[in-house]
Amino acid sequence: MRLVRFRFGDRIATGVLDGDAVQPLRGTFFEQPVPTGEAIPRDDVRLLAPVLPSKVVGVGKNYAEHAREMGGEVPDEPLVFLKPSTSVIGPDDPIVHPPVGERLDYEGELAVVVGRLARRLSPEDAALAILGYTCGNDATLRDLQARDGQWTRAKGFDTACPLGPWIETELDPLDLHLQTRLNGEVRQDARTSDLTFGPAGLIAFVSTFMTLLPGDVILTGTPAGIGPMRPGDRVEVEIEGIGTLSNTVAAS
Ligand code: MG
Repeated sequence: MRLVRFRFGDRIATGVLDGDAVQPLRGTFFEQPVPTGEAIPRDDVRLLAPVLPSKVVGVGKNYAEHAREMGGEVPDEPLVFLKPSTSVIGPDDPIVHPPVGERLDYEGELAVVVGRLARRLSPEDAALAILGYTCGNDATLRDLQARDGQWTRAKGFDTACPLGPWIETELDPLDLHLQTRLNGEVRQDARTSDLTFGPAGLIAFVSTFMTLLPGDVILTGTPAGIGPMRPGDRVEVEIEGIGTLSNTVAAS
């Protein structure tokens, strides 16, 4: 099932995308939503970020080849950081390059959406806490990442977390093709089978020290092939079984 958030005229709602129609839901994805019985043509709605997380937990160096291109190894434990809720944008929203940094990079990533409160879960229970999967772009100011020593500015700026276009709820995430394209050119091409720490393990790990709320998102890390984006560029993150998240880049 493809879960969406959308705008239709003045109305913002959740829904299920079924072919060429959006079927609106009453309520959030997390409280047994009920279909309203309507069907709105997909072309008449604007898709929004599929969730509004309380926080986005990013994972660094989770693909060995990317860890190497950053000059390191995959760490023994997941290396996690936070992106604030205010960094989240939806499909087709612009990634706005803030004036504080020079080099703005894309990072195409599998994003995991948490479906229920998660605190100190085993990996088995963590798997059951997953609502579904979407595409994410962990936009990063690479020069500030190196200069600051921690990544709040580099990865937490407004628009630094495109998510979408929807949440796919029926998907085995363990061996999916992931591709990032810049202006149609392939820049990252990988499989999620190369992830060191998988979705359920990451949720279990994070839940040992921080409660995850319904709607929170884990960005599982980016594969090799990172590189810069410039104003006017179009960046696409496509994941097999989910779809394509597309955003443009704008100057601030
Ligand atoms: Mg990343």
